[in-house]
Amino acid sequence: MIELFSSPLLKELLPRYQKFINEELIPQEMQLLSLPFKEAEILLKRLRIKAKDAGLWAPYLPAGHGIPALTLPEFAQLSEWMARTPFGHYVFNCQAPDIGNIELLHRHADQFQRERFQAPLEQGNIRSCFSMTEPGRAGSNPLLMDTTAVEDGDDWVINGRKWFTTAADGADFAVVMAVTDPAATPYERASLIIVPTDTLGFNLLRNIPVMGEAGEGYHSHGEILYTDCRVPKSHLIGQKGSGFRLAQERLGPGRIHHCMRWIGIAERSLELMCARAVSRSLGQERLADRDTIKHWIAESRASIDAARYFVLHVAHDIEQRGAKAARDGISAIKFHVAKVMLEVVDRAVQVHGALGLTEDTPLSYWYRHERGARIYDGPDEVHKSSLARSILKPFETGN
Ligand SMILES: Cc1cc2nc3c(=O)[nH]c(=O)nc-3n(C[C@H](O)[C@H](O)[C@H](O)COP(=O)(O)OP(=O)(O)OC[C@H]3O[C@@H](n4cnc5c(N)ncnc54)[C@H](O)[C@@H]3O)c2cc1C
Repeated sequence: MIELFSSPLLKELLPRYQKFINEELIPQEMQLLSLPFKEAEILLKRLRIKAKDAGLWAPYLPAGHGIPALTLPEFAQLSEWMARTPFGHYVFNCQAPDIGNIELLHRHADQFQRERFQAPLEQGNIRSCFSMTEPGRAGSNPLLMDTTAVEDGDDWVINGRKWFTTAADGADFAVVMAVTDPAATPYERASLIIVPTDTLGFNLLRNIPVMGEAGEGYHSHGEILYTDCRVPKSHLIGQKGSGFRLAQERLGPGRIHHCMRWIGIAERSLELMCARAVSRSLGQERLADRDTIKHWIAESRASIDAARYFVLHVAHDIEQRGAKAARDGISAIKFHVAKVMLEVVDRAVQVHGALGLTEDTPLSYWYRHERGARIYDGPDEVHKSSLARSILKPFETGN
């Protein structure tokens, strides 16, 4: 915990999360990872009940479920701890994409949507997904989108193909981004519409194999064909044409969530690296006695600590000035922290040697599953270009 971003509430909460994570989750993590998700889900359900009973459920909810409302920096620091083990966020119902959808519904759902979709999602009785990216269009520019939703009587009729809809398999509903007004200005063409996955015309074509694994359930990325998929007009979130604005709003705090998750992964990887370095003998010496290894450890320590300060500073800035004003910081942490995390995971794998590639530690899981960090929610290059444009602006205008 960093004193600068601490609070009495965090001081009370964090040790409770640490205890639960250390005692209930980490001892079971390798068993959970070894199972197909739908089998692991049985154990995870039990852990979720324990987390609820311990008063640790969904701490990001506004004063919900027994926990007072947290600031973004407070939640971020809990999130870092949850990330130390691959199912941490899931057990506390803090996992993407559900957390983003819950926050979106909190702000923009009407009474019907609250009761039908938001409440069971908050309770962890159902899962959801977010269906924006399309295989035929560059996801880096979400203005390019072919999926349409056309008004027909009391319904929307959706047609299009989406992919990398994370956790679509077994989700109860998808939040779909679709063009609702092709003639509108680029940022007002699309809307977000809730589509229950049992709707006729919602076709989950496959779980896309990623890094050698198609996965299943929560651990999967779906390709979905929407064919004359008809849902009532009451499934529109917010106003017609507000899709990009709401998606941006969803992504601001979402990037803090991702970054703090990556810091938790990096921190645990560093711990594993150090434990291995002091316990692995090279004959006369241990790995920890070699300068190369010491330097990796020192560099990892410095870059994780710097990244943590940076993310918490941006989280604080979002709270003070809003996501729009904090957008340069949001872009900077997105590409910077992804790089720090991937470097640390890679060093930890290297220090473990062949063991690092096995399924005997969580490192190989993170190595495969976290490579996407530099791609999703805006690839590195998009964030770097955006940040550089902003930095250069005063020089170009002479202001
Ligand atoms: C693990 C994972 C989970 C995902 N989950 C979801 C999800 O739940 N829902 C969803 O809708 N989508 C999801 N996505 C999709 C993700 O949002 C897109 O992959 C991302 O927006 C990039 O789009 P793209 O893959 O079409 O790459 P493209 O847009 O084709 O870009 C390819 C590459 O080109 C380069 N590039 C792009 N633009 C620029 C630029 N302006 N300047 C320089 N270089 C550039 C970058 O290196 C980029 O990686 C997920 C992706 C991954 C990997």
